[in-house]
Amino acid sequence: MKSVKFIFVSGGVCSSLGKGIASSSIGALLEGCGYKIAMTKVDPYINVDAGTMSPYQHGEAYITDDGAETDLDLGNYERFTKTLLSKKNSITTGQVYKEVIRREREGDYQGKCVQVIPHITDEIRKRIKSSADKDTDISIVEIGGTVGDIESIPFLEAARQFITDVGRDNVIFVHLTLVPKITAADEFKTKPTQHSVQKLREIGIQPDILLCRIDGEMDQMMKKKISLFTNVEEEAVIESVTVSLSIYEIPALYDAKGLTKILLKKLRLPYEGVKTNLKIWYDLVDKIKNPKYTSKIAVVGKYIELQDAYKSIYEALDHGGHANSTRLEIVKIQSDNINENNVSEILKDVDGILVPGGSVEKGIEGELLSVKYARENKIPFFGICLGMQVMVIEYARNVLGLKDANSTELESKTPYPVVSLLEEQEGVDNKGGSMRLGAYDSTVIEGTKLHAAYNKTKISERHRRRYEFNNKFKEDFEKARLVISCKTEEDNLVEAVEWPDHPFGVGVQFHPEFKSKPIEPHPLFKMFIKSTLKK
Ligand code: GLN
Repeated sequence: MKSVKFIFVSGGVCSSLGKGIASSSIGALLEGCGYKIAMTKVDPYINVDAGTMSPYQHGEAYITDDGAETDLDLGNYERFTKTLLSKKNSITTGQVYKEVIRREREGDYQGKCVQVIPHITDEIRKRIKSSADKDTDISIVEIGGTVGDIESIPFLEAARQFITDVGRDNVIFVHLTLVPKITAADEFKTKPTQHSVQKLREIGIQPDILLCRIDGEMDQMMKKKISLFTNVEEEAVIESVTVSLSIYEIPALYDAKGLTKILLKKLRLPYEGVKTNLKIWYDLVDKIKNPKYTSKIAVVGKYIELQDAYKSIYEALDHGGHANSTRLEIVKIQSDNINENNVSEILKDVDGILVPGGSVEKGIEGELLSVKYARENKIPFFGICLGMQVMVIEYARNVLGLKDANSTELESKTPYPVVSLLEEQEGVDNKGGSMRLGAYDSTVIEGTKLHAAYNKTKISERHRRRYEFNNKFKEDFEKARLVISCKTEEDNLVEAVEWPDHPFGVGVQFHPEFKSKPIEPHPLFKMFIKSTLKK
């Protein structure tokens, strides 16, 4: 087996400096040099995965093809690179301890005292190694948390052990720190960076590259000083300037600051005169900075006040914007604030409306009113998962005249369960359980908007849901002209619906947002944004 090179990305000073984006950008730059990369996140929390975490605390759970419910940073890895992630790319303290304790109970350790070093760190190293595929050249491992946290110590220790394990030439350490500006002194301060590197060195890790997050330009004197105190060569002290418009500016920015070259050099890979394919990132920046159009999109949902709860949706909308040279203004509307009296006032000047997914803890009246408004006023509308289910309920109530139609998730005794669990549906043999998680194949029906967007009939999209369109009502809906535009391959479940005579009224049971990238925008988001542009 060829030897894989490893890059560990750690963070210092404080959280939220953009370690996930930095790791993803490193991936994008190395892919641009023709290397096959793998991306892995290690999270110091005890949860086994992110599936049980509330979006209020942790933002969305990002779903992979193989149905892993992972930390939202993994979404950035897939958005910035071509890697396809799976369960093995998300490692948590919970998983590691669970496995070590299982082995201890089964007697695998043959009576030894089971300890953090070496048993926990061995398990971490094993998992990190197996997260790279056979053809991986470089594996990028982001270490969650901040250096100095108690929880992340075993992971940093395992990373340090890689030096002797895979050899000094095959592992490098990138450390992201903060260079804050002290307003009163009107000066940037390098001390937090110095201290954070000291903390890392206490564990035995000497960073090879520093990425210094700074709200401005870094002068040569500052670089010199940081270099002197941290033992990192000046050319490897790279400023990570806060960008004004979009996170997708970062790969090109890092490349322009010399990061690509220094990464290759430190990894002992050829770097002089290397041919790269990084123009796509510079072209993207150009598109982002010089839009031709603008469009105002309302996202109407339950967790709206949380920046990260619909993260992949906002990203995918932006990708659709880039694809149409359009700058989006996204208005986030808390669905509970919408009522019959204010709906038209709230939505009167938006160009498109999107209702995202979610579980229904409370009523969906706000969503229903927004859907009705979009349908009747021919405003482009995109419903995702719960968003599609609301579309079906609204159509049942207001077009089919089935008063009180509902999803059994909201009203178990509804007389018209147009959305329900499979096991509640007549004549359905559902041995597989009700949760549909991860990628499934489905068939797009020709002549529909969905087909126009995808331009193919076989698609694979990611899912995370329990409730389904109830096929018992299918004929009634079709008689009332609701278009069924996609079905699951194996069991004929409705995957997408469309409104007739409408510029864009599409609802999908799956989550297309998880497969959209800035370089390859998802066709449905592209078409949705296009339909919102005024002619
Ligand atoms: N709660 C709904 C279901 O389980 C919708 C889920 C979602 O939007 N992801 O079917």
